[in-house]
Amino acid sequence: MPDYLVKATAANGQIRAFAVSTKAMVETAHTVHHTSPVVTQALGRLLTAGALMGSMIKNHDELLTLKIAGDGPIKGLLVTADGQGNVKGYSYAPDLGDTPAAPMAVSDAIGDGSLTIIKDMGLKEPYVGFSPLVSGEIAEDLTYYYAKSEQIPTSVSLGVLLNDDGSVKQAGGFIIQLMPFTEEETILNLEKVLANTSSMTKLLDAGKTPEEILKNIFVDLDLNITTTEITRFLCNCSRDRVTKALIAVGEKDLEEMIADGENVEMNCDFCSEKYTFTTEDLRALLKAIRK
Ligand SMILES: [Zn+2]
Repeated sequence: MPDYLVKATAANGQIRAFAVSTKAMVETAHTVHHTSPVVTQALGRLLTAGALMGSMIKNHDELLTLKIAGDGPIKGLLVTADGQGNVKGYSYAPDLGDTPAAPMAVSDAIGDGSLTIIKDMGLKEPYVGFSPLVSGEIAEDLTYYYAKSEQIPTSVSLGVLLNDDGSVKQAGGFIIQLMPFTEEETILNLEKVLANTSSMTKLLDAGKTPEEILKNIFVDLDLNITTTEITRFLCNCSRDRVTKALIAVGEKDLEEMIADGENVEMNCDFCSEKYTFTTEDLRALLKAIRK
């Protein structure tokens, strides 16, 4: 079953909700980046947030970036999402030496720091939102970000559950947002339900689908699922793009690389794909630039 996301409204449009399953996405990140358990969880949570927030993009050219910087050993995490369900990301430190038997807490791995959200809508200046981390557990940090930076009352839940070998057993999350005209009664009702909702890890462990997670929450709030979309870990890097990056280093550096006489290896941060350029390739590149 591929990962997918459902969009819904509830209480006559006073609430909008998004829920997603991201097991395959997070396992892909784990495989390509060789992440240790705590990094799989931290990166998995941020990728899940990327899938949820990416689905709110209205313009197809828009690109969303979620960046966490912290003083913990993970140092930072970067995730990008487009409006078509494509999400990718990496951790600045992929392996913290922790094991499934001796797990580290995500908040300890991240430490104190900040969350930056960049919405590049193809305009001159991208929208940049910024907030300090309040817990380092990512979901609470996003809730705080929405309240402070976008003034939207939001409930965020993100979870990644691992198998004993460190592979991903379950992953997913939800975002619930109140519209400005939400009645007090609806808010109280939702707060009560959310207080009684099991943790995301428990819901995932019970094998709940995104639809079932939302149905559980909005049992008395008239849930209306409007859209179902596929989401995935996908990197759009290519030899062409990497070649452009290599051209950007300039003629002088290219000449030096050629003089070294060794293959140049370029790695994509997002998917760890290796691109090798032989001295012959570099010579051809230099020739093309000078033309
Ligand atoms: Zn890539």
